[in-house]
Amino acid sequence: MRLLVVEDETSIANFIRDGLEEEGFAVDVASNGKKGLELALDNIKEYDVILLDWMLPGLNGIEICREIRKVNKVVPIIFLTAKDTVDDAIFGLEAGANDYIRKPFSFEEMLARIRVLMRTRENEVVLFTAGDIEMNIEKHTVTKNNKTVELTQKEFALLEYFLRNKGKVCRRTRIIEKVWDIHYDHDNSVIDVYINALRKKLDSPHESSFITTVRGVGYKIETDE
Ligand code: CA
Repeated sequence: MRLLVVEDETSIANFIRDGLEEEGFAVDVASNGKKGLELALDNIKEYDVILLDWMLPGLNGIEICREIRKVNKVVPIIFLTAKDTVDDAIFGLEAGANDYIRKPFSFEEMLARIRVLMRTRENEVVLFTAGDIEMNIEKHTVTKNNKTVELTQKEFALLEYFLRNKGKVCRRTRIIEKVWDIHYDHDNSVIDVYINALRKKLDSPHESSFITTVRGVGYKIETDE
């Protein structure tokens, strides 16, 4: 899952990015309004949530939100702002935002709100399975035969992407776009490393891998029979 954070205060931007990366998100950060809008419009289909600061140099959050809504009505947008009057909240929501978080906020609160918006969008799916493998997005856990399997952040993010697209071929280029952030240089051989790690941790001995390789295209997790 990939997020865009538009925030000009470096300490807040870093706090959000580090925390979300720890949760397995890929995070792009823009530190001014113009860059934020540019990233949003360039990658609109890749972002699962956009976090927008209100007061920004260049374009402000409201202007960015309106521009995004001209081309995309569905991407969840959350405002981060020190403004705290009811009028301001209504103004933000009328500009097309889905939610509104007042600064200062706790990381846990922000994460909870992101999860709520993603859940609404994904029709409340928080539990994914593939055979004896189970992933709980809210609890951030993966089990195989009911035993916990420890995954790194990127392994978790990659598995989540596969499970959300179960039965479909996941193309290598799409995997990079959804699971890695914009600073990744698009050498997609990194995917093989993570596929190997997931197979090592989650495949059953003497059985074919739960991740099917679709030669020259990508990978796929088959739907359960
Ligand atoms: Ca600001």
